[in-house]
Amino acid sequence: MAPTRVARGGTLVIGGGFAGGYVARLLGRDGATIVSPDNFMLFTPILPEAASGTLEPRHVVVPLRQMCPNAELRLGRAVALDAAGQFVTVETTAGTETIGYDRLIVALGAVARTLPVPGLTEHAIGFKTLAEAIFLRNHVLRRLEIADATVDPVERAKHLSFVFVGAGYAGVEALAELADLVHDALRSYPRLRGVPQRWVLVDAAPKILPGIPGRLGEYAQKLLSDRGIEIYTSTMLASAEHDAAVLSTGERIPTRTLVWTAGVKPHPLLAELGLPLDERGRVQVDETLRVVGQERIWSLGDCANVPNRATPDVSDPPTCQHALRQARRLAKNLRGTPKPYRYRMLGQVATLGRYRGIADVPGARFTGFAGWFICRAYHLWQLPLMSRRLRVVTDWSVSLLFRRDIAQLGTLGGRQTLGED
Ligand SMILES: Cc1cc2nc3c(=O)[nH]c(=O)nc-3n(C[C@H](O)[C@H](O)[C@H](O)COP(=O)(O)OP(=O)(O)OC[C@H]3O[C@@H](n4cnc5c(N)ncnc54)[C@H](O)[C@@H]3O)c2cc1C
Repeated sequence: MAPTRVARGGTLVIGGGFAGGYVARLLGRDGATIVSPDNFMLFTPILPEAASGTLEPRHVVVPLRQMCPNAELRLGRAVALDAAGQFVTVETTAGTETIGYDRLIVALGAVARTLPVPGLTEHAIGFKTLAEAIFLRNHVLRRLEIADATVDPVERAKHLSFVFVGAGYAGVEALAELADLVHDALRSYPRLRGVPQRWVLVDAAPKILPGIPGRLGEYAQKLLSDRGIEIYTSTMLASAEHDAAVLSTGERIPTRTLVWTAGVKPHPLLAELGLPLDERGRVQVDETLRVVGQERIWSLGDCANVPNRATPDVSDPPTCQHALRQARRLAKNLRGTPKPYRYRMLGQVATLGRYRGIADVPGARFTGFAGWFICRAYHLWQLPLMSRRLRVVTDWSVSLLFRRDIAQLGTLGGRQTLGED
């Protein structure tokens, strides 16, 4: 089908994640058109809680139409850029169209970075999207049901073993949350009482949570180890099988759950846009976030290499914290006189399950309950829209008062027609 030309100028944002969503929001009445495959922004810091069921999945996303009331949303995927002609080709559900722009903001984010590990893409589960979080929750609850149904101890052990590869924030928090889910859920499975479970965290680096300062990282490692989580540092996944994970140490762990959270890489579309890229494949921008050599294109977030005046020797890590600060700078630059981006990290927080966490904030470091509380409070403060915050607080309050919801709804939700049972 021939592309339809949509005559539209103004600001076009491709990507409605942290960076793109916030720029469009902060541009306010100036307005923008956002191209995004989803009509929401995923608030990733609390995604692990959607996987464990502490939070309702809908509450960890923010609808873009409400977050950016002055923006127009085009649901679809950008597939090509003509920088000379100033238009982007977009695939929508209605077909292919081209959207013209005066100013283009590229905020495509990153995708999971996989390695050439035999069996990885066939057998590992990712953990980056809401769909993956929902899938993982249902998958884990399904393992409990199967383990409950079988009497074969070898088969049972496979279903009650969970291996996570990648000990950054996503991997550690997801493992901690899901271990809590299983721990609580097992109270409702009397036949599984006393049956051992196995939780394994693997990382090629010599320590977990590499970005976290020494003492806090050690605290996290000890806390998880004391809880029985097996931590393999300086270890890689050698291969993945249908019912096992094989480590570089040669150990073969029988499991039906292998979760891969070992890093991200810039969005593959970037390589086709004709923009200057750095050695890691991120769009190269100048200090004002304008793409090098381009008058009308800017980029930010996980997909861009943004020079930071506050840390001239180190490029920004792929975090929400940096994407948000870059978005603030870019929105100001587009509305007034451009200034260089400068941001010094405020600190870092992470939850470790069972009301424990770590928080490295200006002037102080917290562990245990205080760390957990600060982490939750920080995420709540960062979450856009008061209605979203209230929903999250309500979910948290309910989870304090009542036992977990362990309904496994993964097999439901397909299209149902009249006449089907
Ligand atoms: C599980 C998890 C937990 C995390 N926890 C933390 C944390 O606690 N603290 C922290 O600071 N950071 C955290 N991060 C990192 C953080 O999520 C990212 O750094 C941040 O989202 C980057 O924002 P972004 O806009 O660049 O990318 P994204 O938020 O990924 O947004 C990219 C957007 O582009 C859209 N897109 C993709 N392809 C196309 C296309 N072809 N056309 C149009 N749109 C497209 C995507 O749908 C997405 O909406 C976490 C990440 C994950 C996965």
